[in-house]
Amino acid sequence: MYAQVIVDIAHSQVDRIFEYSCPPETVAGCRVKVPFGGRIIDGFVLSVSETSSYPPEKVKPIVEIFDEPPALQPECFSLMERISSRYKVPKAAALRLFLPSEMRLGKVREVYKKYAKLNDITAPISKSAKKQQEVLAFLNGKKEYDYTLLCNEFGRGAVNSLVEKGAISIEKRQIKRNPFSGEIKEEPPKTLTYMQGNAISSIENSPKRVHLIHGVTGSGKTEIYLQIIANEIKKGKTAIFLVPEISLTPQMLSQLRARFKGEAAILHSGLSAGEKFDEWWRLRSGEAKIAIGARSAIFAPLENIGAIIIDEEHDSSYLSETAPRYSTVEVAKFRAEYNNCKLILGSATPSVESFLAATEGEYNLITLPERINKRPMPEIIISDMRKEVKRGNPSPFSSALREELDATLKCGNQAIIFLNRRGYSQKVICRDCGYVAKCENCDVSLTYHSEEDCLKCHYCGTKYRMLPACPECGGVHIRYSGTGTQRVVSELSSLFPDARILRMDNDTVSGKDGHYKILSKFAKKEADILVGTQMIAKGHDFPAVTLVGILDADMSLQFSDYRSGERTFQLITQVSGRSGRADMKGKVVLQTYCPENYILRYAVNYDYLGFFNNEIQIRKATSFPPYSLICRVMVTGEDEKKSLDTLKEVYFEIEELRKSNPDNFIFLNKMHSPVKKIQGKHRYQVLMRLKDAALLQKIYAISVAHTTPHVLVYVEENPTNLS
Ligand code: ADP
Ligand code: ZN
Repeated sequence: MYAQVIVDIAHSQVDRIFEYSCPPETVAGCRVKVPFGGRIIDGFVLSVSETSSYPPEKVKPIVEIFDEPPALQPECFSLMERISSRYKVPKAAALRLFLPSEMRLGKVREVYKKYAKLNDITAPISKSAKKQQEVLAFLNGKKEYDYTLLCNEFGRGAVNSLVEKGAISIEKRQIKRNPFSGEIKEEPPKTLTYMQGNAISSIENSPKRVHLIHGVTGSGKTEIYLQIIANEIKKGKTAIFLVPEISLTPQMLSQLRARFKGEAAILHSGLSAGEKFDEWWRLRSGEAKIAIGARSAIFAPLENIGAIIIDEEHDSSYLSETAPRYSTVEVAKFRAEYNNCKLILGSATPSVESFLAATEGEYNLITLPERINKRPMPEIIISDMRKEVKRGNPSPFSSALREELDATLKCGNQAIIFLNRRGYSQKVICRDCGYVAKCENCDVSLTYHSEEDCLKCHYCGTKYRMLPACPECGGVHIRYSGTGTQRVVSELSSLFPDARILRMDNDTVSGKDGHYKILSKFAKKEADILVGTQMIAKGHDFPAVTLVGILDADMSLQFSDYRSGERTFQLITQVSGRSGRADMKGKVVLQTYCPENYILRYAVNYDYLGFFNNEIQIRKATSFPPYSLICRVMVTGEDEKKSLDTLKEVYFEIEELRKSNPDNFIFLNKMHSPVKKIQGKHRYQVLMRLKDAALLQKIYAISVAHTTPHVLVYVEENPTNLS
């Protein structure tokens, strides 16, 4: 027997299929160890055959076979082909996506436990073997007993000789680490509203593959997802349910467990390696039928998928920013095609790309214009911060926000204060000479952290001592602007000394379930005000929240990104959607320095269609995505000269491409990246805007061809982060 093997080295030079001889139990999908270039390395069996195309003396044998059943299912190899050709990555890199990384590196294994039990028929044991008699007496009447504990109590010798004599037998069983402590309280499905029922029958009856649910915040999208999943499970199928950041949504977790119990496996970053491994195998073995998780759960090892659901489909976390740089929606489409199943995208603020596809008839569009029980959308009050400054109000809160906060706290309700962190200047500046403290490895300014009293680089994590004086001019007038949230919390506590305030940002969440702890505390009403950044905007459902304050609604408008209007609209809608979700009416105070901005106008009126029609016209007139493709080729390396030389070569070839396709290029240039260095690596880029994606494959090919051990070249499509 021969096995066709992909070796686990993600490098274009070994991106081929190798052949090994193998024992008869080898099947496609197994992980194996094989000799390769003088070493023993991991590999994946793609297929097996009776004969070899090579002379037998050239074919080496497989060293070891893992996995029973095979870790990789047949679909993996079909997806591997699509992903490696779409994103120009080696096959091994594509296959790695399907396995939990801890498992690949051999860091986790199944946990087995041994159990001892009395055999029915056995030869008599001598009375003088006292310990052995004690063991027999102890096991008598018990179904079984933990082997290790038994050895601890009576001695390994006594137990093992009983095993040898056939008096007791040992059974080895796999133990599943259960990531969920605590009780699950079961919850029946809700009675669907008319709109929800319509949405489900539209999805089930439409011949289209992709469905877009555009439903305002609180319109009951979650219940629709849950019932679609339940229907598929009833049909004997499986389902994948993706949310942007599952560890951030405690309610979602408990809802899913309440509804599906052991049928659901949850894959998220808060799990230990062992738990992740066991949840993964539960899916692979068919014990669990629903995979729930963030982006990477799109690779869940399920067969016979009936539905793939992507909630908050507009969220930028669905685009992978590390290699392979895949789009989750695109991979979901591959899987939906393979399984011939439905793909359901949902959002209160669909991405412009998705909504265009829906209006053009490519997707089945389902609209939920109202909240459950016709609850009103929260009223959004605009505070013009220019007027506040003129009135001599130096605090971060407008008078309207202070009044509303006061009223909310007096009623015993909760409030969320949201800061757009990207908008905050967190620099350390010398007021005498203008010196700005920067990281030694990265071309970025440092941020002051008052808890640790140090300066930190947010790109590489390096910490620096605080500066007693300016290193340039010796001046002592150094200003630490501090992180935005910290300042807001201290101002809030002086305004409302009795209020219990929680803060949630990257600095306060430590440990794997840090987010979860803060959010659970807030959900249990152990705090009155939650102050936070982007991470509190997503999907939470806190019934007692009746006020949301958005401190700097327009900050993201100032970024020179074609998507800044779309991002701002999404953010305001999402954050506002946290208010007044239960019986009490909600309010939102939106602070801004440009109240006349049209994006804010649409957001305040919950006018998604107005926003979309306006935005899509601008994109069309200016030829921005989805009417073009922005493509960035990054060139990075430690050696500045080598990187720069590579940049020139890459640019030259793309320039040639443009000469033969002049109509397809709207823009082409090469330059330093805005952040010139990260972790000691210089960063250059070729930026271009293409009319259509036809040339993309050629640009990928150029990048792959110029990558060397010293200089990395890679392609980003419509990157969300241009730093
Ligand atoms: P969305 O995901 O659209 O923002 P949710 O699914 O969180 O909205 O629903 C908003 C609220 O309405 C939740 O508290 C949910 O429990 C409730 N809800 C949803 N569907 C129903 C229903 N059919 N009957 C009663 N309450 C419902
Ligand atoms: Zn740094």
